[in-house]
Amino acid sequence: MKILFLSSEATGLIKTGGLADVARALPLALCQKGHDVRIVLPNYLSIARTQNYSPAIPSLGVSMGDSKLFCAVQQTRLEKLPVYLIEYHDFFLRNHPYEDVAGNPHPDNGERFGFFCKAALQLCLAENFIPDIVHVNDWQGALACLYLHQYRKTYSEFAGTRSLMTIHNGGYQGHCSASARSFLEIGDDWFRAAGFEDHGQINLLKGGLRAADQLNAVSVGYAEELRTPLGGHGLHESYEARKEAFSGILNGCEYKVWNPSTDPFLTTSYDLGNLSGKIQCKSALQAEMGLKEVPEVPLIGIVSRLTGQKGFDFSLPAIAKVLSKKVQFAILGSGERWIVEKIARLSEMNPEKLQFHNGYNEALAHRIEAGSDFFLMPSLYEPCGLNQMYSLRYGTLPIVRAVGGLRDTVWERDVSGGDGTGFVFTEPNADDTLAAIERGIDCFTNDSASFQNRICLGMRQRFSWKNTATQYENIYSKALKSHIN
Ligand code: ADP
Repeated sequence: MKILFLSSEATGLIKTGGLADVARALPLALCQKGHDVRIVLPNYLSIARTQNYSPAIPSLGVSMGDSKLFCAVQQTRLEKLPVYLIEYHDFFLRNHPYEDVAGNPHPDNGERFGFFCKAALQLCLAENFIPDIVHVNDWQGALACLYLHQYRKTYSEFAGTRSLMTIHNGGYQGHCSASARSFLEIGDDWFRAAGFEDHGQINLLKGGLRAADQLNAVSVGYAEELRTPLGGHGLHESYEARKEAFSGILNGCEYKVWNPSTDPFLTTSYDLGNLSGKIQCKSALQAEMGLKEVPEVPLIGIVSRLTGQKGFDFSLPAIAKVLSKKVQFAILGSGERWIVEKIARLSEMNPEKLQFHNGYNEALAHRIEAGSDFFLMPSLYEPCGLNQMYSLRYGTLPIVRAVGGLRDTVWERDVSGGDGTGFVFTEPNADDTLAAIERGIDCFTNDSASFQNRICLGMRQRFSWKNTATQYENIYSKALKSHIN
């Protein structure tokens, strides 16, 4: 198949979260299966500053409402995958892909990503690459599904092209003012409750839920939750309305990058057959974070965007309580100020037990995965979650809330009541979080057979991208069979 993969980030070029990892690994896995996959991304400031690329199209005209804008298209590669970069300085030459320095969404995000979507389709014509599938991701790609309806009518080449929209995080929806409607070409028939309209505003994700030929979320658990009032981020009815075309596919884990036996960021490599290296990784991490190098004290790692989604309002009180015990925390994260300040305060009050690195640091993220005994991920909601999969591979027991993809990947007990791969709680409150952390610590301290068994079970588990890519092939086939009115 020919697949055009639209993403607003991809690891190796620009990354703010898990979407970037998926946008690299999934196209690579599909390419390995013989598909012709091409990625399209905006050419952001940070890409323009750091990457080598060559011109693909010097000037591409893109009609947006009554205007015609001209962009350049650059070309680079992620391994062997061709990547097109849409270059339009007014929209993309900014420090952050989505937000200003204060953390507020750029006010013209609708126009920026609408233009990105239209330019992506237009470049297919210019490059004579007519995709079978336009695969878009989250609200940033939603308008490509709408524009594909127009292109199918206008250009016979596109008659057989179908779209898939993948929901990586339904909490971000791309709201923008209805005044952008004419620029974005959202006509009356699409600006309705069953479409882009949301309390008088444009909601890009919501419109995409109607416009896409097929839809999926990044885990089966999250796909189920999105259809409920509690889990749908206000859009459960829109998901429910498309239930025939909506499924869940669990992300894979890129074991080439996340493998403790080959990880270049670790001081000592290790694997199932030889776990002594993990003990050395623990003391190296303790030293790096400024914690005492004590192997007998359980070390709990966190690597996270610091947002409400990750459950900090109830997990921080639990962490504060558990600090009365023999325990250490190594925390890496960046994000909302109230969370940064609370963690920094906990660290100031308990410097020998909790150290916090406020920032984004890929190498340290790998070392926390390797050097910790536990990885805490008590999310309020979690579409898939990648860190718990990395933890399992690194022999670091995840302590998670049973929600979304976490529920699909971590078990405290197996079906017959034996050891599972981590520690799991259900309710989003401090008491249950604390109890799960305490069960983990108790296992570490008093039941080393169970602790080791859990490590082995987790390290043997595989979430392969090859398997995930096969499931995407199936949905692509389903999309191609769908009849368009
Ligand atoms: P989300 O996409 O909601 O942020 P995921 O668990 O799916 O959560 O993916 C997060 C990805 O981002 C992981 O690869 C994780 O290691 C990485 N990450 C998050 N915060 C940081 C950070 N501060 N420094 C380095 N890597 C980070």
